[in-house]
Amino acid sequence: MRTVLKCCVSTALVCVLASLVHKQSAAAQGGPIAIRAARLIDGKSETVVNDAVVLVENDKITAVGPGLKISPDSKVIDLGDATLLPGFIDAHTHLLSEMDGTNLTLQDVEMLRIVATQSTAQRALLGAKLGREDLEAGITTVRDLGNSGVNGDVALRDAINHGWLLGPRIVAATRALAAQGGQFGPLTPQAQPIIEQEYVTIHGPESARQAVRQALYDGANCIKVIVNGSPANVTLDEMKAIVDEAHTAGVKVAAHAIGEKATRIAAEAGADSIEHAYIVPDHVLKMMAEKHIFLVPTDGTLQTFEDMTFGARQPSAEEKSRTEKEFQPFIERSRDRLRRARKMGVPIASGSDMYLTMPKQNRGQASLLVFEAYAEAGMTPMEIIQAATRNGAELLGMLDRIGTLEAGKLADIIAVPGDPLKGVKALERAKFVMKGGAVIKNEK
Ligand SMILES: [Zn+2]
Repeated sequence: MRTVLKCCVSTALVCVLASLVHKQSAAAQGGPIAIRAARLIDGKSETVVNDAVVLVENDKITAVGPGLKISPDSKVIDLGDATLLPGFIDAHTHLLSEMDGTNLTLQDVEMLRIVATQSTAQRALLGAKLGREDLEAGITTVRDLGNSGVNGDVALRDAINHGWLLGPRIVAATRALAAQGGQFGPLTPQAQPIIEQEYVTIHGPESARQAVRQALYDGANCIKVIVNGSPANVTLDEMKAIVDEAHTAGVKVAAHAIGEKATRIAAEAGADSIEHAYIVPDHVLKMMAEKHIFLVPTDGTLQTFEDMTFGARQPSAEEKSRTEKEFQPFIERSRDRLRRARKMGVPIASGSDMYLTMPKQNRGQASLLVFEAYAEAGMTPMEIIQAATRNGAELLGMLDRIGTLEAGKLADIIAVPGDPLKGVKALERAKFVMKGGAVIKNEK
């Protein structure tokens, strides 16, 4: 009885999904499109293409170049004095989390509040809103790294892929793997069951392998590991087991690691990216460069930290100076490690790690502020663009489909006003966004 019912339900579901998928692809099938703009940066080459044209058919780019011939049956989108770029890739998002940053010292408590009071369904709906904000800001792909309840990120990813709602392509991690306690800090035994609502805690290499297999079964496209948690840490043997199991399945590993020991464990084990690494010695950076392990510098500017701390409230002069004193050493240290990483040839992929409510920006706009932090560390606008496009695609294992403007790739194309090589702030103002050949936004 049950089996028959299940069969009918799944057949009906397949029909509904098929029609939805058809509807979404139909959105990108209005005949050939020619997009023109004064400039184009393809994400790969350092050369700017002037008088640029990108030809799109269905969901793919068919040609890119200066002054291309446009067939008369093409729909022409002329963006004027703008620069065409590949859609941005944010390699470190938390679309299913929004924390109140006005009291950062209580971050553990804020995380507990979210996990204890918001269902995964609610968080997925929040992710739908934040994902749309990302997409409209020009972020066409994200790697969502946990803090999404039990597989809420997979639900959001699939809903977007089915065409139920608009959002970026999502590479989902499911629950992050961590040692005892995840990132919650010490909890009473009675409160500890909550940890597994947000993390999968591992206990030795075999349990670590099992956790990877569970994540893959749950629909993960990548694995996130909290190497140094709060308070416990993942060991080198556990990390090696995780990387081995994930790589055997063809899936990449993102390691949250800060400090000599955690970054060394992540690099030695062969993680594909190290997230944050606010503190990292040169010998680990050297290993990262040699093994081609990406650094994802989730950095902020002083303004970002002030906005997070005070929210919409105007701080007093004394509060402002206290916050500056508090964050400046951390900011300086982050700038220094990014400078050292660049010098040593560590590949860099852009990641915002934005999960706080910001008073002046929505999630998409706030996520792009990370570019200003990179610029403060001396990265050039061209390097920043490549970190947020081509490098992100390589890290996500999607360089064959996205990350550059080339014939054969998916038509994830954005345009920003003017010339972003003159100042990265232009990257925060996408006026045109296309994802998979479908126009998402076109501000005249
Ligand atoms: Zn994060």
